[in-house]
Amino acid sequence: MPTTARVAVLPQEKGPLSIVEAVLPDPRPHEVVVRQFSSGVCHSQLHQIHNPRNSPVVLGHESTGVVIAKGSQVSHVKEGDSVMVTWVPRNKADNPQPTQPATLKLPDGTVAVSQNVFTWADKTIADEQYVVRIPDDAVKDVTSVIACAVITGAGAVLYTAGVKKGQSVAVFGAGGVGLCAIAAAKVMEADPIIAVDLDDGKLEFARRFGATATVNASKEDAVKAIRAMTERTGMLDTLRRPMSGVDFAFDCIGHKVTMEQILRAARAGVLGHMSGGTAVLVGVPQTRVDLNALDIMINEKKFIGTNGGSCQPDRDFPIFLDWHKSGKLDLNALVTQRYTLDQINEAVSALEAGSIQGRAILEF
Ligand SMILES: [Zn+2]
Repeated sequence: MPTTARVAVLPQEKGPLSIVEAVLPDPRPHEVVVRQFSSGVCHSQLHQIHNPRNSPVVLGHESTGVVIAKGSQVSHVKEGDSVMVTWVPRNKADNPQPTQPATLKLPDGTVAVSQNVFTWADKTIADEQYVVRIPDDAVKDVTSVIACAVITGAGAVLYTAGVKKGQSVAVFGAGGVGLCAIAAAKVMEADPIIAVDLDDGKLEFARRFGATATVNASKEDAVKAIRAMTERTGMLDTLRRPMSGVDFAFDCIGHKVTMEQILRAARAGVLGHMSGGTAVLVGVPQTRVDLNALDIMINEKKFIGTNGGSCQPDRDFPIFLDWHKSGKLDLNALVTQRYTLDQINEAVSALEAGSIQGRAILEF
């Protein structure tokens, strides 16, 4: 039976998103149709909005919902099950090759494409690799941000970097992803946890998630401030300067300046004793960057990237749902704005203007 969905569509030509009614195709053998409760509004979608397109585009890649139909080969969920839709394959061992990215035939005859899923819609269809089973009693509004913001920020700390108790952390960019990185650093008992942003309000908010110190980079040199906070008495670096800097510096923004700052903020190594700190690129880079190769080599620093926080949704979504339940990661606080699907352009404008303190969601 055909399923009609209300979907936000970005036109091929410049212009705002529009809400259209479209008929979802019947699921192919490995596809699942989901009626959605909530979707996150993610910063990375702005890149798609601003890049030239060859066709209309459907957006969104984190949501919660319930299965309303499934293809013949789908066995990990059934109709009525609670699920999350995400952009990271849930379990590569199980059906490793997702089918083609979801496309949607629009009422005007054109076909809209997505990166691999779309969740700015009251119903969606996706390959089973992007549909993750969650407990039926799981909260379904604020938890939609687990499927991108949380895995990206918290996963970067837990898995990509592997932060341990007592290690020092700086997080550049205290938005939705940065706050999740800060919360995970707190769970791992990192110390100090330094939040860096240009906005005093966001920095104050970051303390609520576990930041123990803050730096407003519009008022002072962020790297200098971090070094002043992290000087280790009696230790000299390779160049025989007092040791300072953090074990891990995360860039949740991806600007040229912040990508350079995280490498400089990472502490140097001590020759013959310990290797240097690690700069972790979390935000989607907006540009190429010049890194100081001598700093990397002589101080044994590492510059690494993370995509989706090295998370595996089947394994990690239940963990983060549990963090929310137990208060380790307060998603009710993280979600600071709620919109309806019809307010999608308002949500995108607010994101663009930087006026969303935590994360915004759409509720259907
Ligand atoms: Zn995202």
